[in-house]
Amino acid sequence: MSNGIFYKTDDEVELIRQNCLLVCKTLALVGGLMQPGASGTKIDAKAEQLIRDHGAVPGFKGYRGFPATLCVSVNEQVVHGIPSKQEFKDGDIVSVDCGVLMNGYYGDAAYTFAIGDVREEIMQLLKVTKASLYKGIQQATVGKKVGDISSAIQYFTERVHPYSVVRELVGHGLGRNLHEAPEVPNFGKRGQGPRMRDGLVIAIEPMINLGKKEVITDKDEWTVFAEDRLPSAHFEHTVVVRKQKADILSNHSSIEEAIRKNPNLKEVGEIAVETA
Ligand code: MG
Ligand code: MG
Repeated sequence: MSNGIFYKTDDEVELIRQNCLLVCKTLALVGGLMQPGASGTKIDAKAEQLIRDHGAVPGFKGYRGFPATLCVSVNEQVVHGIPSKQEFKDGDIVSVDCGVLMNGYYGDAAYTFAIGDVREEIMQLLKVTKASLYKGIQQATVGKKVGDISSAIQYFTERVHPYSVVRELVGHGLGRNLHEAPEVPNFGKRGQGPRMRDGLVIAIEPMINLGKKEVITDKDEWTVFAEDRLPSAHFEHTVVVRKQKADILSNHSSIEEAIRKNPNLKEVGEIAVETA
């Protein structure tokens, strides 16, 4: 440990990888269930069952009193939405964040699903937010600073594209705790923040608003939504910092396969992120 940061051994990294893959398996299950008329409550129950069937425990349920397995955040909701009976509608975007705890370690990942006929303007927000995650991951190598990740995400979403980075919520270290040092903001300056060393495990999770950056927390004390009520997107990977390039411990490909197979969902699609 140094600067409050716990660097992980290879064995610990493999445990965290297993957990992240279970999270992604859960999000793939969710991707198969998403349709107009489905609800957060319904998908949350299925997600919890799958996680427990694998001998794991939902990572968010009970965390600081959060009441569910998934965070389900619809349209202008940014993150931390509490699953409800409110049915999803054609044209909604639904960000689903999931964590698990198994063998003493956490795993964490998130994906934003597009249900039915989502407007092209909003699909572009999803595509850019997802690409910004990979822009950030490209910077997660030994010797770089956390601010290099932050600034890469901010530059791509706010300068190259016309969106806004949510400031109040950030990525984080992860291990025996769901949230560990360091914080990994999605905005900031190159060359600032802690220097990254081999074995640093971090969750990188851009939360990007179509409109302005300001957010409000709902009366339920959890749900964060865009103040201007415009849509917001969220994609997350857990990665371990390595010398040449970060090793991505979560894997969105099973989720994207579920999306391709589900006629009710629209694929987010790719923006080529050139490798540095
Ligand atoms: Mg998460
Ligand atoms: Mg996270």
